[in-house]
Amino acid sequence: MKITANNTKLKSWLKVDKDTDFPIQNIPFGVFLTKNDIITVGTRIGDYAIDLAALHQLGYFKGIPLTEDIFMQNTLNDFISDGQNTWRLVRNRISEVFDADNNKLRDTKKHRNKVIFQINDIEMQLPIDVCDYTDFFSSKEHAMNVGKMYGKKKNLLRPNWLHMPLAYHGRSSSVVVSGTKIRRPHGQTLTQEANPVFGPSKFVDFEIEMGFITTDANKLGKNIPIEETEENIFGMVLLNDWSSRDIQDWESVPLGPFLAKNFATTISPWIITMDALQPFRVESPEQDPKPMEYLQKEGLNSYDIHLQASIKPKKEEETIVCNTNFKYMYWTIFQQLAHHTINGCNVRSGDLFGSGTVSGSTEKSFGSMLELAWKGTKPIALKDGSKRTFLNDNDAVILRAYCQNEKIKIGFGECKGRLKKAKL
Ligand code: MN
Repeated sequence: MKITANNTKLKSWLKVDKDTDFPIQNIPFGVFLTKNDIITVGTRIGDYAIDLAALHQLGYFKGIPLTEDIFMQNTLNDFISDGQNTWRLVRNRISEVFDADNNKLRDTKKHRNKVIFQINDIEMQLPIDVCDYTDFFSSKEHAMNVGKMYGKKKNLLRPNWLHMPLAYHGRSSSVVVSGTKIRRPHGQTLTQEANPVFGPSKFVDFEIEMGFITTDANKLGKNIPIEETEENIFGMVLLNDWSSRDIQDWESVPLGPFLAKNFATTISPWIITMDALQPFRVESPEQDPKPMEYLQKEGLNSYDIHLQASIKPKKEEETIVCNTNFKYMYWTIFQQLAHHTINGCNVRSGDLFGSGTVSGSTEKSFGSMLELAWKGTKPIALKDGSKRTFLNDNDAVILRAYCQNEKIKIGFGECKGRLKKAKL
């Protein structure tokens, strides 16, 4: 099916800033609460939120096989479950309805009032009921930085790292939407005297990541062959994998991250579809050794997505601390999904897969405070004159992402969270 919604020549009759993350070619999906206290599935064009349940009720999706209540939901899980064909039909139709040449909704004030809201008048919700959450470790630069920091002189990568995308199973209950406040966690940490103590974590960190969201793709016991991974990925979000480094240091051998990570994970509210990201596909980094056959896929398997992290102390200006790019990731999302299911592990609609910290090769492209301030040894300066090795109470972390070529910009909006002081 042709993705007509991606036509770069399209213009909307809705007024849109030239520099917006959400031109008519984006058409992301999210869930929001209207000022009339109604929760609906929606999309966004410029600074307008569009109520898809209302649009459906008014007959604008006629001819597309959708259940009556598909958009009258708290989450996108059911819609995602409908599959790629339906996602494409709906996205193409939305693009037609808001096309500058289409006067049907444009000239029907009664409908417009039911469908269109100012973005400041709505409240974004967590877009999916996160079924399961997995976090990968797929940036070679990040993995090598960690190796260096933890005392390795050579063989910075573990022997398995170049052979398969490594990951741990995260916690889905604490995945929250952008804007949710994060509480500094308590836990056990190790003192210099080598005795564990209990108290607030001292070294709370962010990790800049992207997450992808799947549909129900396979039954338990069946894998998803790598050529079929694409059609089963709905879209992507920004993801902040909040991390407590002192808790992590003490707990993570032998079984990996646990309480150091599961206190919170923040995602951005608008899911940008893989279809909208099509124009920004690029080659992924060369892999040596060549991965096993079940991880091999021809074509452009990475995405050119600019990523940025900033820190904003309360009532102060924000400081950009990291600029990086998703295209640096060594393992692709297709390899991640193929590997995740090669043993027969089933994935469901609304499963979330974090990429792992997206670090580039330069010091200003490292994707966590751990790396930016090199394990506390190189404090970084903020615009207000203060310095950071990790996050202070009341610091907000703001992640942003966008893709851009000569013709079009597709953005992800913001993924934001403020760290509140510890309290039991
Ligand atoms: Mn992570």
